Amino acid sequence: MDQDKLFARIDDKRDDLVDLTRDLVKIPTTNPPGHNYQDCARFLGERLAQRNFEIEYVRAHGAIGDSDRYPRENVIARHQGAAAGPTLHFNSHLDVVEPGAGWTFDPFAAEVSNGRIYGRGTCDMKGGLAASVIAVEALLEEFPGLPGSIEISGTADEETGGYGGVAYLSERGYFSPGRVDHVIIPEPLNKNRVCLGHRGVWWAEIATHGRIAHGSMPFLGDCAVRHMGAVLEAFESRLFPMLREKRTAMPVVPDGAKESTLNINSLHGGLAEGFDGLPSPLVPDSCRMIIDRRFLIEEDIAEVKEEVISILDHLSRTRQNFRYDLRELFEVLPSMTERTQPVAREVAAAISSVISEPLEFVVSPGTYDQKHIDRIGQLRDCIAYGPGILDLAHQPDEYVVIDDMVDSAKVMALAAYRLLHGAQ
Ligand SMILES: [Zn+2]
Repeated sequence: MDQDKLFARIDDKRDDLVDLTRDLVKIPTTNPPGHNYQDCARFLGERLAQRNFEIEYVRAHGAIGDSDRYPRENVIARHQGAAAGPTLHFNSHLDVVEPGAGWTFDPFAAEVSNGRIYGRGTCDMKGGLAASVIAVEALLEEFPGLPGSIEISGTADEETGGYGGVAYLSERGYFSPGRVDHVIIPEPLNKNRVCLGHRGVWWAEIATHGRIAHGSMPFLGDCAVRHMGAVLEAFESRLFPMLREKRTAMPVVPDGAKESTLNINSLHGGLAEGFDGLPSPLVPDSCRMIIDRRFLIEEDIAEVKEEVISILDHLSRTRQNFRYDLRELFEVLPSMTERTQPVAREVAAAISSVISEPLEFVVSPGTYDQKHIDRIGQLRDCIAYGPGILDLAHQPDEYVVIDDMVDSAKVMALAAYRLLHGAQ
């Protein structure tokens, strides 16, 4: 195989890669609520249809957020090779987060400046999607007799949990081992990193209860906010120190995320009913707190929950009138592909031959769609690999470096060639 010819072909497509990224970014697929998924999915589908891909559009009817106004549209493009062989799937999410404040560029103009493309979704992850499309197009032009099949999907809702996207498709067999062998998700983890998986998540709401009384005579009531204060105090003195002791062998980046973490996501105390934001001369009878606990592959989710519940139960026994409710909101188990798996190994080998920075295996601090491919699809040969710089995702003035996209397209094309030839 003439690697240099393949790479030269990708270099020749540099302008095409820039234009494709810009065109994708100019379709504002902001989620929530999930704007313009159909336009974006059709745009990608029509391009690949011209390159002999079979195109399927799958709307996630009945998924959270799906409506005629905001349909959860997904596109799956499949290219059947000249001979039998494995199937390699590139999965990218089409949605982007709200631009938010602080931009000096128009977030949806996709301006090119200093070798970068600026805009919401350039880094996370339309630049990665475009790189995978160019990689595959170059590969198919260079090797018309390539065995195996290549799939490229553009899916909905990753930013809100992926239920109208990869989860929906996984439930319908699109990521089952009988159909797909290897998956690469071009999320922005830096072009020299193979991302093997992610930590686990547990979200829960804790409520404490009290009794209303006149604010001038608080001793006649029971303050729910003070009860929650006792919870926070116990978290500070017992839970946080315990979490800091837990270190994972997973190669999580950044380093701080190698520990177990807990974010106090929100806290609201006041009247259980009729809160209007104005100060009132009342003792609050309700306080609610949402916690976001990220845990490690070495931890059991039952223990993660028990750590919190035991603190609350201890308060119930020791603190007068302490009553609480705990409502679980969301959970995802940690996921990690072995670095000896074919897709991890081949992408790593391709990084070593294309990228000058040293190869790294990493694990993401937060989750992404790999969780659904792993748990629902039961497909283990899945990693994330893409050109964007991790820290820029969701930031104002998000950008992607054009050279990084070109480099990562070469990595993807080289790894794809090897995987389709049955590298095991
Ligand atoms: Zn993403």
